[in-house]
Parts: sequence; structure tokens; C-alpha cells
Amino acid sequence: MTELTGKEIVDLNKEYTFYSWSNQGQVNPIPLVRAEGPYFWDADGKRYLDFASQLVNTNIGHQHPKVVKAIQHQAAKLTFASPSMATEPRGLLGKKLAEITPGDLKKTFFTLGGAEANENAIKIARFYTGRHKILARYRSYHGATLGALALTGDYRRLPAEPAISGVVHFLDPYCYRCPFGWEANRENCCLQCIKHVEEVIQHEGPDQIAAIFLEGVTGTNGLIIPPDEYWPRMREICDKYGILLVSDEVMSGWGRTGEWFAVNHWDVVPDIITTAKGITSGYIPLGAVIVREKIARFFDDKVLYAGLTYNGHALACAAALATIEAYEEEMIFENAKRVGKHLGAQLEVLKSRHPCVGDVRYIGLFSGLELVKNRETKEPMDLTPLKNFLIANGVYVFNFKNILFVVPPLVITEEQLDEGLALIDEGLAELMDKMTA
Ligand code: PLP
Repeated sequence: MTELTGKEIVDLNKEYTFYSWSNQGQVNPIPLVRAEGPYFWDADGKRYLDFASQLVNTNIGHQHPKVVKAIQHQAAKLTFASPSMATEPRGLLGKKLAEITPGDLKKTFFTLGGAEANENAIKIARFYTGRHKILARYRSYHGATLGALALTGDYRRLPAEPAISGVVHFLDPYCYRCPFGWEANRENCCLQCIKHVEEVIQHEGPDQIAAIFLEGVTGTNGLIIPPDEYWPRMREICDKYGILLVSDEVMSGWGRTGEWFAVNHWDVVPDIITTAKGITSGYIPLGAVIVREKIARFFDDKVLYAGLTYNGHALACAAALATIEAYEEEMIFENAKRVGKHLGAQLEVLKSRHPCVGDVRYIGLFSGLELVKNRETKEPMDLTPLKNFLIANGVYVFNFKNILFVVPPLVITEEQLDEGLALIDEGLAELMDKMTA
């Protein structure tokens, strides 16, 4: 293939391909040509520290030799088999997922990504319960296909409506801006966010609700970590009404929080886990819907009306097996926990140094800074200048509204992390100078 210049690559991409969630005339992509560990390089040789793990998925870092080799090996042997076939990587991966998921989660339906995983989880929940309604939260993202977008609570749902019927949203455990007014008195919080869910269930008719979908830890919509009581209480409520509890671990799974899945922090066994991203670290697209034994058994004598040409793709399953092996052998989640502790401490320092940092939230290497113009009013800050400064200086970040994410590959060292945090410190100081000028 010819080697194009950075400008040629960008021009071709912009002229002939669409970019996600963007005004197409305003996109400004980086021509990425090479990557390794926590870094990537553009066509002009400029190096970036990847503080976004691309799209919070390259958990294992870029170009991990073990995974690259496993893909090459599988490609040489068998790249594709129809979903009606049985293959070694698909079988081994299914077994491994049953081992590493909590409780009796056992059987997997493979997809190509997170949206499709949620799409199929909606169908499975409806088939299994014979009920139609689904509950999800406002501050959530579950994917861009119509069903997953209907679950999604954020602004991206609105242009797609009416998407699918029967989805009802409820409010979040967003303690920094508590929708129930407890943010100034967190110690005495009465967990109204949980009582509110039960009230919504009562209004919607408990026997009409198939499932509640929750991100393990809310990602894109602001890195919202629920209070410790939240997940166990949601489990109790679901059991009380025969509603399935679904944990969307697309972003919060695979060591991002320091555990295999975020729900492990609260010892909760959901009925279904949906996942993608870190399962292969993005090297080959793959998603999964993993269900508990009782749901698996339900389909033993009934048709599972679900199918995809690429269900259980051999190359993707081989990539996932190698990724999981590397996670375990190299104790990558241990690193996420250890470096995550350091990250948390450093974010607190940034908060103490810069009044525009209203809140910092972190768990493992899943973290965000919420920037505000004023700590009292919490008026959101426009992050565009800070983001541009960081990217111009070689630290690649992404933001959602006024929340800046720090979500590097889980293999990052403390020194590499500090390199990026020092630049954030500098960028915040510049931002404050401009505000006070
Ligand atoms: N669920 C969550 C929590 C996500 O963060 C995402 C993507 O960011 C999705 C689902 C959708 O996954 P995909 O983009 O692979 O379809």
C-alpha cells in the first residue's frame, strides 16, 4: 500500500467516510499511523500519550505482542466459521467467560460490540420474562443502534426518538449534583435515588418490567460511581419484583476499575452482563451477552430468536483469549489498582490547586475531573481550550461536556501517568489565568 502523508490521510477520511456524533464539516481527526503501549504516533511522527485508551477500550495498551501474535496465528489457521459451526476459540472463550464472570453467569451470546450486546440483552430479557418494559437511567450511554439508543439516557437518544417502545428512564445516583438535593449534606443522604427507582417501578407496573439496565460504573455520562449501597439494593429490588438486573460492563469491565467487572466491587451477581471494548482491547471487534444459568436453561427447549453472521467470530475469540491471558499473566489489573491509587491522590491534588476543578471521581484507572466556572454555582466550564491545549502538547484526552476523562491503558506506569497529569496541571493553571484576566 502507498504511504500517504498525514494531510492526504485526513482528507481521504473526511471526504469519503463519516465520523461519529459530529458535524461532518467540523471534524479534525489525527492521522494515526503507529502505536505502542500507552502511546501512539501521527503521520508526522508526533507522539501522543493516550489518556483516553482510544475509546476507553485499549485496556491492554497498543500492539501487545501476545495478542497480535494470537490474531496472526488464528488468521493463518481459520479466520471465519459460520455461527452454526463449533470452533475451538469460541468454545474456550465461552468457558473462560463463565469462569471470570461473577456467580452463576454461564452462557454467552457473542456480538460485534457493545450496542449489539445491549440490543440482544433486551430481546433475551423480554423472551425470558414475557414482559416488555425496560428501565434505564438518564445519565447513561448504551450504544448507537436503535434499541441501545432507546436505553441511552443522554442527549444522543433524542434525535432517534421514537426508537423502540417500552423504555422508561429514571434519575441517577449523581452525588455531586444530587437530583434529590442532598449534595450539601452527603453524610445524611437518605438514598432517595434508590427509593425513587422503586417508586418508578410501582408507577410503571412491576409485572410489566423485564429488566433494569445499569452501567456498572457510569462512564461517558460523567464517571458516576454509585454509593456502596446502590448495587446491592438494586439487586434486592429486582429480586422482589422478578425483574432482571443487567450490568452494562462495556466500558467499566475488563480491569478498568481494577476488577474484572465493576459490579465485583459490590459483590453483586447481575442476571446478565453485557460487554465489549476491553474483551479484546479493541484489537478485533467483539461484544458479549453473558447470562445466568437459569436464563441459559430457559432456552434449552425454546428458540433463541437472535442471530448475527459474525456471532463468535474465530479471529475475535482468539484475540479475546490472548487478551485475557495477558491480563492474568502480567497482572495488569493489579497495575490498574496500584497506579489507580496514585491517580486518585494526584487528582485530589489538582482539585486542591485549581478552583475550577469542582469534583474528581476515580475508581481504578477510570477517572474524571468535573470542571466548573464557580464551585458554589457549579456552572459547567467549556473544556474546548483545555482539550486543545492537551492534544496540541501530546496528551490525547476526551471529554463529555464539562468532564475531562483520565482513562489511560491499564499498563501505564506512574511515571507515564505523571507526565500527562503535569500537562493537565499546566493547562488548568492557564485556564484559571484566562478566567481571572
Ligand atoms: N455501553 C457502554 C457503557 C458504552 O460505553 C458503550 C460505548 O462507549 C456502548 C455500550 C456501546 O458500545 P459499542 O460502541 O461497541 O457499540
